[in-house]
Order: sequence, then C-alpha cells, then structure tokens
Amino acid sequence: MILIRRLQSEASNRWVSTGDGTRGQTQTPEGYGAMFRTWLRMNVPPSCYLFASSPSCSSSSASSSISSSPSKQFNHHVMATSIRIAIVGDVHDDWHLQEDEKALQFLKPDLVLFTGDFGNENVELVRSVADLKMAKAVILGNHDAWNTKQFSQKRKDPVQLQMECLSEEHVGYHRLDFPMLKLSVLGGRPFSGGGDRLFRKRLLSARYGVNDMDGSSKKIYRSASGTPEDHSIIILAHNGPTGLGSKMDDICGRDWVFVGGDHGDPDLAQAISELKETTQFSIPLVVFGHMHKELAYDGLRKMIVVGADNTIYLNGAIVPRVKRLIGEQGNSSNSMTDEIALRAPESEGTLRAFTVADILDGKLEKIAETWVSVIGDKMAVEEEHVLFKSGT
Ligand SMILES: [Zn+2]
Repeated sequence: MILIRRLQSEASNRWVSTGDGTRGQTQTPEGYGAMFRTWLRMNVPPSCYLFASSPSCSSSSASSSISSSPSKQFNHHVMATSIRIAIVGDVHDDWHLQEDEKALQFLKPDLVLFTGDFGNENVELVRSVADLKMAKAVILGNHDAWNTKQFSQKRKDPVQLQMECLSEEHVGYHRLDFPMLKLSVLGGRPFSGGGDRLFRKRLLSARYGVNDMDGSSKKIYRSASGTPEDHSIIILAHNGPTGLGSKMDDICGRDWVFVGGDHGDPDLAQAISELKETTQFSIPLVVFGHMHKELAYDGLRKMIVVGADNTIYLNGAIVPRVKRLIGEQGNSSNSMTDEIALRAPESEGTLRAFTVADILDGKLEKIAETWVSVIGDKMAVEEEHVLFKSGT
C-alpha cells in the first residue's frame, strides 16, 4: 500500500505542478528515489501517470504484488470499469490533511470531489487540500469569497491565493478530463450562494467575463465542449440546480424560512438541460453542497434525487463533517461517539464524513454517506447510510 500511495504522490505532483511555486517543495514525498521514478516512467500508462486515477493505480488488490511484477498489474485494468468517487462536502474548517488522507487511503477512491466552503477565505486550509496527493477536483463556494468583493490590484487577496494554489483542479467554469476513468468533471459557477442572484458578481465578471445568469449558464455549457466522446460527465458545483423541489427539506430547499422555496442555481439547471438536449453526453451524476443536511429548523435534508432521466443529484454537505472521539473518561456529544469511545477507550481520534459513490460500467451502483473513524493509524467504516443502490 505504501508503494502505491507513493506512486500517487508522484503522479499528483506532476499534475498540479503549475500552481503555487512553493508547492513543489512541500509536496515532494521524501524517502523514495530515482530508482522508483525510473520504474514508474517505464511501467505506468501515460494517463495513469498524469492523473493517478485508474483503478489500477489505487486498487488495494495490487498492493501485495506490485513491487514484484508491476507491469502485469498495470496492464491488467487499462479500462476503468469500477470507479469509486469520494465526495468531501462543505468543509467549514473541518479538514486535516494527514487525518483525511488516512481516511481517504482507507476508502481508496479513484477521484475525490470537494464541494467548497472550506472556511471563510481560509487560504491555509485550501492550500492543504491542494496538497492532497490524490486525483481531485474542487469548486470554491460563497464562503471562500466571504469578504473579497473584487480582486485586489495591489496584492494577492485570499480569493486569488485560493484559486492559484488549486490551479487547474479548481473546476469553476472549467473541465478536467480523467482519461483512465473515462470521466470528465465539469464545474459550475464558483462562489455560488444559491438562488436567482449572482453572488460576487465583480469577481465573476473580472475573472470569467460572466455578468448575468444567462452568461453563466452558457459558460458552464461551453466548458463541456471538447469532452472526449467516450467520457461520462460528472458535474461539480457549489450549489445544486433549480427544479429539484421547493420544500424546506428538499435537496436545495430554503430551510431558513417556513415557506421554503427552491434555492437552486438557475444557470446550472439551464446548462444541464441544454447539455441533455443538444449533446449526446451521459451525465450520470451532479454533485454539490451549500445547503446543509441539518436544517435550520428541526429535521434533515433529502440529500439525493434520482432524476427522471436517471441523472443522480447528490448533495454532499454533511456539516460538521468531523466528530471527535474521546477517551473513556471524557464526555461525548452524541451516541455515535459514545459507542466508539467504548470500543477504543485508550485512543482518541475522529469520525470523518464522506459521501462515497461507486460507479460500475458508467452507471451508479451505490452511494452512501460514510463515516470513517481514524484512531492513530487504525481506520474503519463506523457508519454507512446507503442513499442509493442500483436496482432497488
Ligand atoms: Zn455555501
């Protein structure tokens, strides 16, 4: 497993090396040398090398024999048939690179998607997300442009710094192709605050030339142009599209007023609808956050909608996404942590939330809200709430 992880580290470094100049140094994994790199160049298919995202790059089944017969392992699954995507919903300051990396290595995703709202312009945290050595795509949310209303000419403001360190992995109005997965991630409008008004209009105008909802919709639509024909498109946005319900607990429903209301993004809805009408692309999954699972008033939000045409709309905003586990002596805040504390009295650790989507031959097989405990170097799935299972 260590060998595979290092392989991903190397590949990830190459992919994001155009970002912040300091990252090349901080990302370089220590303790493996020229021999490994030579082996890597000789044995890894080009797209796997770039994206580190094929199942053969991250599958646990390869771990025991990869060092003795690497080429056999990599030739074995050139075509991706089974893909795992881990979604990290709205972070709101709950991210710890080492701990989340342990949980993610345990889950073994081929791709990690982040729905944004890392903090209120928390540049250090976003830098640490950028440092995650896995194939990933990120969209910035309204909290990531919480104070900055326009780009500063004099200095690099926090919004510029966040975009710079994420570089190409920030998919706002932009697409990332993952050839080994036969997937493309198409980004929606960054900084979305939901509803029918553009949030941070000056930022959108200055950076993307977007001045209204219609322009925004066209920009999202145009980003799909050039998607390889055999790729499925996964859309990643901070907020979901309109049209998915207007009750308080609907997937994008307003929960801070009793009358509810659809708080989805109209530009995203329009772009999706036009992509479906005018192109042949398959869009199996639309991932977003922003509207938290826990409602402002009592209750929980519906986090998944299966559309009439089988596109699945998935809200990943489980907030807070980290719960602390405590020792036997301490007090815990809920029954889940009580249970863990009893099982691991000598340890302290965390429970970390992900939404895990498994895709088989281009079709969603299973989606589950998944809580992973990380106690030192021990990881386990503690809770799994299945949101979707094919054929049921
Ligand atoms: Zn938000």
